[in-house]
Amino acid sequence: MFTSIAGRAVVVTGATRGIGKGIARVFAGAGARVLIVGRDAEAAKGTVAELSATGADVSHVLADVGRREDCQRIVAAAAERFGGIDVLCANAGIFPATPLAEMTEKDIDEVLGTNLRGTILSVQACLAPLAASGHGRVILTSSITGPITGFPGWAHYGASKAGQLGFLRTAAIELAASGITINAVLPGNIATEGLDELGEDYLASMTASIPLRRLGTVEEIGYTALFLATDEAGYITGQTIVVDGGQVLPESLAALDG
Ligand code: NAP
Repeated sequence: MFTSIAGRAVVVTGATRGIGKGIARVFAGAGARVLIVGRDAEAAKGTVAELSATGADVSHVLADVGRREDCQRIVAAAAERFGGIDVLCANAGIFPATPLAEMTEKDIDEVLGTNLRGTILSVQACLAPLAASGHGRVILTSSITGPITGFPGWAHYGASKAGQLGFLRTAAIELAASGITINAVLPGNIATEGLDELGEDYLASMTASIPLRRLGTVEEIGYTALFLATDEAGYITGQTIVVDGGQVLPESLAALDG
């Protein structure tokens, strides 16, 4: 059995919906105290009401991870409510699709600003409390798209998700001296509100290309993050875990026949 993480202070960015909400639900279910982060006040309140209905200690702070002052506000809220941070799940991300030939500077800046700059700024802001924790953990939500695969429209997104892994490897070395581990989960196609917005055709074609023949659930990413946050995972740092139902495995569509 794993040592309980009940009572640990957990910050999950991009947790007003989707994968972040699933991560928050799993940590709250394990007895952790959870601070959810996002920009949409109504969605944040709804998520807090839903997750705290079981008696869990869940609250929110409104913040844009792409802004340093907002990231400092996240840390201040965690200090006030929990007295520190044990785990940061840097999950906030966006995936608007744009063909490379039509990509504007604004498109590039928005995606890199949230996914890559937002990852760096949120981790950087949380360093002191994570070091003070004695078992600080950072879990990034990257993607198979970029580090392993490609998909039309997501050149900037893929760059941001691969960029998170470049950040991860140097950060792991720098943070080791403070006893902080940092790892990344690489989801395949996970059923979320954001993915739903890509439409039925996209969801059907993705499901057909996954050996397990279904999209993943947000809780399946949450349980992977939970494992990486345990004491028992304390010797793992700078690493990645793909959670994709086998999507990256087939060499061709024929490999999925039969
Ligand atoms: P989603 O349903 O669209 O949810 C995205 C979350 O991120 C929302 O809670 C949103 O909250 C928050 N967010 C976006 N920009 C933010 C910002 N600047 N500051 C703070 N919060 C922000 O997306 P998802 O599918 O759950 O994706 C979550 C993460 O998983 C992303 O990093 C994505 O790249 C990654 N991922 C997803 C999949 C998938 O299949 N779903 C696959 C691979 C990787 P507000 O609107 O309240 O700000």
